[in-house]
Amino acid sequence: MCYAIPGKVVEIKDNIVTVDYFGEKRKAKNDFYKLSAGDYIYAQGGFVVQRVSRQEAKEILKTWEELFFKLQQTDLRLAQKPKDLRQIANSVRQKELGNSCCVHGILEFSNYCRNDCLYCGLRNSNSSLTRYRMDIDEIVAAADIAVRKLKFKALVLQSGEDPWYDGKKLIEIIKRIRKKSPALLILSIGEREAGLYEKLYKAGARGALLRFETSNPALYKKMRPGHNPKERLDLINRLHDIGYLIMTGFLIGLPGQTQEDLLKDIQLTGSLGTDMFSFGPFIPHPQTPLADSPSPSIEETLDAIARTRIMSPESRILVTTSLETLDKEDGLRQGLLSGGNSLMINVTPKKYRRLYDIYPDRAGTDADIKERIDSVVKLLYSIGRAPTDIGLGIQS
Ligand code: SF4
Repeated sequence: MCYAIPGKVVEIKDNIVTVDYFGEKRKAKNDFYKLSAGDYIYAQGGFVVQRVSRQEAKEILKTWEELFFKLQQTDLRLAQKPKDLRQIANSVRQKELGNSCCVHGILEFSNYCRNDCLYCGLRNSNSSLTRYRMDIDEIVAAADIAVRKLKFKALVLQSGEDPWYDGKKLIEIIKRIRKKSPALLILSIGEREAGLYEKLYKAGARGALLRFETSNPALYKKMRPGHNPKERLDLINRLHDIGYLIMTGFLIGLPGQTQEDLLKDIQLTGSLGTDMFSFGPFIPHPQTPLADSPSPSIEETLDAIARTRIMSPESRILVTTSLETLDKEDGLRQGLLSGGNSLMINVTPKKYRRLYDIYPDRAGTDADIKERIDSVVKLLYSIGRAPTDIGLGIQS
């Protein structure tokens, strides 16, 4: 099982390195290593995240070489002669971005949340949920398994909005993970102060996942009582200015959302300097005020992915677990063939996974992580995707 390709550094200008992957050149930002031409690295999301020894890189590249070109051919074949909206989106993705697919690990370290979003099972008012917090050592150990044992090169650290993790704790977590198990670290910790995010960037975090949820201000205020959409958007813009890779998006099918809202959601995501679109279907949770509201159909969700791909051809688009939950057999594959090119695998220790109960019956919750990785990689190979995210494309 391999899901990252080491690249050879061929040129360095300030902190931007040009990396060669089987003749294809990509650029990545290097904030962490002293590099020379000829070194080998792993890049994720346009950042250099690990250095790898020349010998190890050459061995891995040997196993990749034949497979890499075979996968490209399969992807190209599946993207030819598109007939409908989703196939057109898949063809756009293939032309613009080739066959690379980001595979991120996600570690859900706390299900405490101070907020009361109407659509979320972690809402503060849900007193029936057993709450957990992983301590710092536990988080660092779980991240180490994900990065060094399971070989993830990007890791999302996710929690409810939980101020128990103050600046000191979060900085320690990031510094220790960066030192022991280097990867692209992406924060999904909610609306915390911009100054805190700045410190966490300095500590080594490089991605921020913060959805704006809906572009409709009235709907936002209804769904997130006590919150102001402008503050959230201001924070996303601020995070972009700090230098974070931005992952944001919205919910599809919130009660009261219109088709016009949905198009505006897609447009707004594109206007925020977004590196990765993250949007998925609303799934009602029985312990929330929206328990009786219906989910959107998988078709609506796939069409939203396809429209987004056509409107923002060069974006990374996440196929969310919520989409997979709507169709556990085939949702992920369909999402990837409708314009999606990114996914996440849950690496949270099993004893906590069910408790991160944002909506019921999440896909993959009970899966053994290793088996889940193997089945995802198998799926990606079957549709010609290289499970890797190797940096920003440039003309060679
Ligand atoms: S959506 Fe996020 S902020 Fe809102 S209740 Fe759930 S975890 Fe908390």
